[in-house]
Amino acid sequence: MRYDIVIGLEIHAELKTSSKIFCNCKNEFGGDPNTRCCPVCLGMPGTLPVLNKKVLEYTIKAGLAMNCKIAAFSKFDRKNYFYPDMPKAYQISQYNMPICYDGYVEIDVGDETKRIGIERIHIEEDAGKLIHSPTEQCSLIDYNRSGVPLIEIVTKPDINSPEEAKIFLETIKTILEYIEVSDCRMQEGSLRADVNLSLKPEGSNMPGVRTEMKNINSLRAVQRAAQAEAERQARILDSGQKVYQETRRWDDSKGESFLMRDKEESMDYRYFPEPDLPPVCLDDDFINTIRKSMPELPRMRRERYMNQYGIPKYDADLITQNRLLADIFEKASEICGNPKLVSNWIMTDIMKRMNEEGEKILQSYLNGENFGQLLLLLDKGEITHASAIQVIDELLKTGEEPVEIVERLNLRVMRDESLVTKTVEQVVSSNPQALNDYISGKKKAFGFFMGKIMADLQGRADPSLVREILTKELQRYL
Ligand code: ADP
Ligand code: MG
Ligand code: ZN
Repeated sequence: MRYDIVIGLEIHAELKTSSKIFCNCKNEFGGDPNTRCCPVCLGMPGTLPVLNKKVLEYTIKAGLAMNCKIAAFSKFDRKNYFYPDMPKAYQISQYNMPICYDGYVEIDVGDETKRIGIERIHIEEDAGKLIHSPTEQCSLIDYNRSGVPLIEIVTKPDINSPEEAKIFLETIKTILEYIEVSDCRMQEGSLRADVNLSLKPEGSNMPGVRTEMKNINSLRAVQRAAQAEAERQARILDSGQKVYQETRRWDDSKGESFLMRDKEESMDYRYFPEPDLPPVCLDDDFINTIRKSMPELPRMRRERYMNQYGIPKYDADLITQNRLLADIFEKASEICGNPKLVSNWIMTDIMKRMNEEGEKILQSYLNGENFGQLLLLLDKGEITHASAIQVIDELLKTGEEPVEIVERLNLRVMRDESLVTKTVEQVVSSNPQALNDYISGKKKAFGFFMGKIMADLQGRADPSLVREILTKELQRYL
């Protein structure tokens, strides 16, 4: 039997405020265990939480970026459970009156734009971290993360394939990075998703029974987990059995999910209103000030790059997925005046470096200014492709201006005809095999000669001059 897949995501993002949500402890990943906590985030009796205003601001920013309505009145609730990662035995969250609701986010699936509904975005505090000792009969607790501000973004069940789930999460990640409210470092757990998934007979309107997989922390794992769960449910339904509503844990290394708790064991959180925090009443001025400060979002930027700089959608899409990269593209294009050259270099050289060395290269010496200067030199034929790569290597190490590097390393294109001619003659005469190949019609040998000659001239010779002289030289043998 064939099925339609129905997926809803609950995404947790840690906000990058400087202090925690209800106290002034430092909000920073890592640190020695239990060094970033105080009586408030340790949940000591008698302490009182005070809401960090930045948390409100960041949440509203996220809500506006995701086309949500912003509630003029919202409140906090206690979500009760007994587990030592929360010393108070409850988590402060928002239950029935979240701050943002009823929004949507557009994603690209192939050539189509699809709208995914956002049910709500609410504020909550993160819990501490339990470390289960592999050798001793005990668990250790680190409360540094307890009280770190989180937003939870809950989608409508509008996602219809594992691939869409991944694209959606990627889109949310980019938006949160653009509006600068979260680092979205998935490997550090600052962005994680729960995947709710059900199947229904193809074309049916009857919702199926869903399962939930918790805390998945990579884009790839979200897609894999959803795929595996869809297949698992299909096998159950195909064999005439029923899917049970349950919570499962995805093990990415095994590529399988395991039962965490079934419906019987499902948590009863007994939510009730948080009496220690006043409700949040927002006036229009506060919201409008934030609205005015909103930056251009990824999709808008993509459109603009296609129109203003005339680059293909493919390029614009890739570049705008990273705000820092997009900023570099824009500045560099203005300086060098050849946006397609800039996007080509970003998509090849820079992205290769990012894959190898990480995004940190965008936060060091490289910027739109010097990248643009460098590509201007290349575009004017003053340096070669090989030299341009060398200049980037240097620039990333020293932060020097491209022109200075070019002078210091003597990289300016060499147009010394006699030197080129001498090198050409030498390379051609000392490679008889390649010469024979060329004479017998194997034109690939030309490229071989070009490569050798350019290498002999340290990649600095003007390639068009080399080509011209080499062509003439080879003519003599034909
Ligand atoms: P809970 O409070 O139990 O987590 P919610 O109603 O808040 O339940 O829904 C949680 C998530 O489950 C939402 O993202 C929602 O879109 C998704 N969801 C709801 N119904 C289904 C379904 N039939 N199949 C898949 N996902 C679903
Ligand atoms: Mg849930
Ligand atoms: Zn604290």
